Amino acid sequence: MDVDDDVVSCDVVVVGGGIAGLVAATRAAQTGLDVAVLEKGDTADYLCNSRFTGGAFHVCYRNVTEDASALREDIFKSTHGFADARLAAGVASDARTAVAWLKLQGVRFIKSGPDPWQHNFLAPPSLLQPGLNWKGRGGDVMLRTLRGRLEAMGGRLLQGARARGLLMDGNRCRGVRMERAGRAQSVQADNVVLCDGGFQANPALLREYITPAPEKLKQRGAATGHGDALLMARDAGAALVGMENFYGHLLSQEALEMDSLWPYPTLDRIAGAGIVVNRYGRRFMDEGLGGVFMANCIARLQDPLSTVAIFDRKIWEGPATDHLLPPNPHLVLSGGSVIAAKSLDDLAARLHMPGEPLKETVAQFNAAVQTGTTGMLEPRRNSLKTAPHPVLHAPYYAVRLVAGITYTMGGLAIDDMGRVLNERGDPIPGLFASGCTTGGLEGGAASGYVGGLAKSASISMRVGNALAALRQSVV
Ligand SMILES: Cc1cc2nc3c(=O)[nH]c(=O)nc-3n(C[C@H](O)[C@H](O)[C@H](O)COP(=O)(O)OP(=O)(O)OC[C@H]3O[C@@H](n4cnc5c(N)ncnc54)[C@H](O)[C@@H]3O)c2cc1C
Repeated sequence: MDVDDDVVSCDVVVVGGGIAGLVAATRAAQTGLDVAVLEKGDTADYLCNSRFTGGAFHVCYRNVTEDASALREDIFKSTHGFADARLAAGVASDARTAVAWLKLQGVRFIKSGPDPWQHNFLAPPSLLQPGLNWKGRGGDVMLRTLRGRLEAMGGRLLQGARARGLLMDGNRCRGVRMERAGRAQSVQADNVVLCDGGFQANPALLREYITPAPEKLKQRGAATGHGDALLMARDAGAALVGMENFYGHLLSQEALEMDSLWPYPTLDRIAGAGIVVNRYGRRFMDEGLGGVFMANCIARLQDPLSTVAIFDRKIWEGPATDHLLPPNPHLVLSGGSVIAAKSLDDLAARLHMPGEPLKETVAQFNAAVQTGTTGMLEPRRNSLKTAPHPVLHAPYYAVRLVAGITYTMGGLAIDDMGRVLNERGDPIPGLFASGCTTGGLEGGAASGYVGGLAKSASISMRVGNALAALRQSVV
């Protein structure tokens, strides 16, 4: 790489040093390309979602080594047919290759439990405890390992370097404009790979696509994705896809103030077993579609802080105890509150909610559960993720909810080699993207989640391979 005062030039410049950026960069460097990664974080353990990650490499909660056609089907099922067919096929077939390649780079995995999605956990696994817990854990170690591999092959991670725009020559991308140490600089490169992690921490973009009130969501991650890559590429003519969904979970509203309550414990289980109501005591979504879907529905409300999970003693003592790091007992042990009352009237009074509508909502729900007709409720209620339980047994409980946003599912339209596409569906020469900067795989009517790690690593492997192929065609 050539570096003078104002201009850096190399074969490939990658924006973002999370898993997507480091996999693409390391893979490209391995093939002999001269690679620079721009990372805006300026400390050795710069924060990003890949460092905070729970570490489960899965595809729709299935083992990445399962038959690729079965994984692909699950991607379509989970996204209700939204996923781009080529992207779904690429991730389904390459997630296992990505894990195998990461192992070869020295990234360690362990089997953390019996379920298929637990077979490939980054090691050492995050200890199961509420609050943030990343130092020395799987994601942190993986990033250090990949950085070491990149640098051993002559690649560089330029820290404190924030990409601000693309250098375009007609419709061809020729590099990146960046700011470093208060100075504007350019990085010229034959190819640019955008991996900035999404737009979850950009209030204006969130307001445009996800929620009327971004300040009423809880950032359930590193909050380093400001949508820079998306804006830069959009200016260069890139198409955007699937912008309206995000990956996240339900948290106690107290997580807005208390760090012990995020990213875990999530409250998906209690909300999914019982009901979620608005300030009028009415249900407004299908709780059976799971925590990611519910978080998206709540974010879309005019007031995303107006919702409450309602459940009873049997739910609290049953499904609420039944998961890794379950709400019972971890919500209370971590300092969170559960509002309890002997009657629904009393519960409504404590919530400053009208009692009659709440009682009516609960009665309708209970009757539908008991007669097996929850599909007839308005809104309907299915059992895809969690079976519904009647809310019958005092004490009755409530927890005020907040939608926790981890990363945005939508973003730059890409093909199955990670080439960024314009509005006509043609690749923009010299421009690639991977990870949570991209859209087209996750989302759809049910906010279908595939898996951030598998998505990022497998698309980045494909980008690295495409860059190597380009190099060969030049040589
Ligand atoms: C608590 C938590 C638990 C999770 N658990 C799991 C799990 O178990 N399984 C799973 O599959 N997924 C999980 N995820 C999601 C997964 O970690 C992410 O999807 C994945 O790490 C995203 O990788 P990325 O490289 O796209 O983004 P990131 O890791 O966020 O990296 C993006 C990088 O780009 C940098 N950047 C941003 N803008 C610029 C700019 N303009 N210039 C230069 N640099 C820039 C950022 O500083 C950051 O370092 C979890 C996430 C969190 C937060």
